[in-house]
Amino acid sequence: MSHQQADAIDVGAIREEFPILQREFDGQQVVYLDNAATTQTPDPVVDAMSDYYRESNANVHRGIHHLSQEASEAYEAAHDRVAEFINADGREEVIFTKNTTEGENLLAYSWGLAELSPEDTVVLTEMEHHASLVTWQQIAKRTGASVEYIRVDETGRLDMDHAAELIDDDTAIVSAVHVSNTLGTVNPVSELTDLAHEHDALSFIDGAQAVPNRPVDVKEIDADFYAFSGHKMAGPTGIGVLYGKRDLLEDLNPYLYGGGMIRKVTFEDSTWGELPWKFEPGTPPIAEAVGLHAAVDWLEDIGMDRIETHEEELAAYAYDRLEAEEDVEIYGPEGGPDRGGLVSFNLEGVHAHDLTSIMNDHTIAVRAGDHCTQPLHDKLGVPASTRASFYVYNTREEIDKLVAALDDARQLFA
Ligand code: PLP
Repeated sequence: MSHQQADAIDVGAIREEFPILQREFDGQQVVYLDNAATTQTPDPVVDAMSDYYRESNANVHRGIHHLSQEASEAYEAAHDRVAEFINADGREEVIFTKNTTEGENLLAYSWGLAELSPEDTVVLTEMEHHASLVTWQQIAKRTGASVEYIRVDETGRLDMDHAAELIDDDTAIVSAVHVSNTLGTVNPVSELTDLAHEHDALSFIDGAQAVPNRPVDVKEIDADFYAFSGHKMAGPTGIGVLYGKRDLLEDLNPYLYGGGMIRKVTFEDSTWGELPWKFEPGTPPIAEAVGLHAAVDWLEDIGMDRIETHEEELAAYAYDRLEAEEDVEIYGPEGGPDRGGLVSFNLEGVHAHDLTSIMNDHTIAVRAGDHCTQPLHDKLGVPASTRASFYVYNTREEIDKLVAALDDARQLFA
């Protein structure tokens, strides 16, 4: 199906591929604005996975029978497709994980535990997701390294002067989120990577909220490591990606061991297989890899530039509509190129959980809580916020419904 109308996205055609968006509760059609948590899965992705199970299912890398060969080819082709999508240098640089969180842990355990020492500093940002913040905190505790945080300024952007102060010769790694899942801020990740490299430090970028929504070129960013999740980009749950530069991955020891990742095993010792398999022990997420491959095809058919523009427009529209409400406080930069496709906010006098529950009465799916950024919420001085996050199938009319539902909350709680 064609997804494009001249330069704009054909949202109507896209929505037809998501039966879930037609669902109704209490006679009201679902308005799905919880895409930063997980996106919906279009029919072609579901079909690819069910075709795989119906026709090609077998374990990979272990069989010489036809089905195993077919499954192995599909699994390997998914690595190639993802490599092409993010402009990596081939499948060797694309490790399939369970999700972004596992990618962060893989790096922290494999590299961090082995390399960090009390003289080293890990530089994070105040807007890191717990996936990276908690992980590095724990690895720092075990190695004696210290953790420092680049400040977020009052506009919700990183204070890059502070970044330049913090990142110095003691810095071992800079770990930064590409697009904040709470503030929506699009961070200058190339600049951060350059700063890290000037001091011989590594850079890790958390791309969970970036890869689904904008063109990402790991070479352009020059990140040493970059992670994201399939379920936030129209793909299935249970699969994520850790990209790493080949020479760095070659020098790294795995942190999970088992079958499928070894070259030679004796009773005394073992050696590791080729990249990327050395980091993918056990039976991997094969059907999910097929689904991720289909999701990448589907996204590229629409065009990542178009998706970025669509989301930027929706976020700017939501920002403007919410800003016009005097009792709404929005967190993060105004709509524009510095904001990805989400808006977190609070309605004065109403707890985010109550507001989200009222939204649910209108079958509007948004998220309440700290969005796995508790320290950032502490800094903002609020325990929680409500987050509306958008994807290719969302419309302005859905944002209008969200804004209209605020009145119910005011009437109930004011
Ligand atoms: N990093 C960011 C910025 C996120 O938004 C998320 C998910 O919300 C994660 C990491 C963790 O992703 P996953 O739960 O898929 O591991």
